[in-house]
Amino acid sequence: MEDKSQSGDSITFLGAGGARFMMYNQSLATGGFWLNLSGTEILVDPGPGSIVQSTKRKLRAEKLSAIILSHRHLDHSADVNIMVEAMTLGGFRRHGRLFAPADALETEPVIFSYIREFVDGVEVLEEGKSYSIDDISFSTPVRHIHPVETYGLVFRTAQHTFSHITDTLYFEGLSQHYSGELLIINVVFLEPRAPSDHPGMPVEHLSVPDVERIINELKPKVAILTHFGMSVWRAKPWQIAQRLSAKTGVRVIASRDGMRFDLAELDT
Ligand SMILES: [Zn+2]
Repeated sequence: MEDKSQSGDSITFLGAGGARFMMYNQSLATGGFWLNLSGTEILVDPGPGSIVQSTKRKLRAEKLSAIILSHRHLDHSADVNIMVEAMTLGGFRRHGRLFAPADALETEPVIFSYIREFVDGVEVLEEGKSYSIDDISFSTPVRHIHPVETYGLVFRTAQHTFSHITDTLYFEGLSQHYSGELLIINVVFLEPRAPSDHPGMPVEHLSVPDVERIINELKPKVAILTHFGMSVWRAKPWQIAQRLSAKTGVRVIASRDGMRFDLAELDT
């Protein structure tokens, strides 16, 4: 059968899940998402199961041009070594680039040193910088509030601009960096949790009310919710998406494991 991933710009979700307990029980898969932008294929945040989910969806790692890690947490990076090996056929076909914040690469790197030799380059993500992969450019406009260094992403293709807001605590001014027709946003919690009430716990994540506020501020054509923690999953993300659509007037979609979104839908 013809590989339909070549037919147009698309985003395939290799799992709608994220955060720790979801990662342990895999109620939802946690493999990140795979972009095909005019034939340039890019994998973002290969969490645990990325190799399983991508092969199951007939996505071929050797066709990847780049792998981007928003940050070093396991639910974003656990499969990065296997995905780089697969991208480069174990180093026999050296190509592709890896992008990650410095703290994923320096002390206690998440990628093995022998694997770094397999790629054409390892590039460090920094606040306010832009990068290019073939004809695609992306930027990392602002450092997020999270226990480790992380940035969201704004992608620009010839036809489309879309943003990905990765893990962060909500902060004033967050939205202004992430305009575009499409917003992909990580929503881990159903309700906000104040860090002061959970000392030592990783609660620096967006909740559903934060996401509602961000969607209202940005008014993208489409917003896709993803990276659900257990509280969001139990509350049925598709119902949350429906409520957010009604409240904001924006088409809000809850991602599902394996869901493919065609960017052409933004043009209708
Ligand atoms: Zn994180």
